[in-house]
Amino acid sequence: MTPEPTFCLFCNTELKGRIDKQFCNAHCKSLYHNRNPNTKEALIRKVNKQLRTNRSALYKACPQGKATVRKEFLTSLGMDFKFLTHTWRSNGGNLYYFCYDYGYTPSVDIRKVVVIQQQEYMKKP
Ligand SMILES: [Zn+2]
Repeated sequence: MTPEPTFCLFCNTELKGRIDKQFCNAHCKSLYHNRNPNTKEALIRKVNKQLRTNRSALYKACPQGKATVRKEFLTSLGMDFKFLTHTWRSNGGNLYYFCYDYGYTPSVDIRKVVVIQQQEYMKKP
């Protein structure tokens, strides 16, 4: 018995091979997802949520405006270091990675980062 034919969700070509396939190839898959507004919105929500979580982790680690903390501690609060809103370079040349108004820069100790709260002067280009 042959299974019911299935069709690519993007281009409607009949699919051969694995029964659970939804697309001809990765190209159709990415075109489909880029076209689907729900998928886009879901991605945006997911990124926004992670940025808020990161900001919250940095804030909890740094209630006094500046602190050196273990990366593990931030990770335990839900921080994902891949997500940031902008960067800022200090006069000393350190690059800070910000999530809204809190940022961090690598510490001399590679297990740690220096967390800071954004100051007015950092907003100037
Ligand atoms: Zn296709």
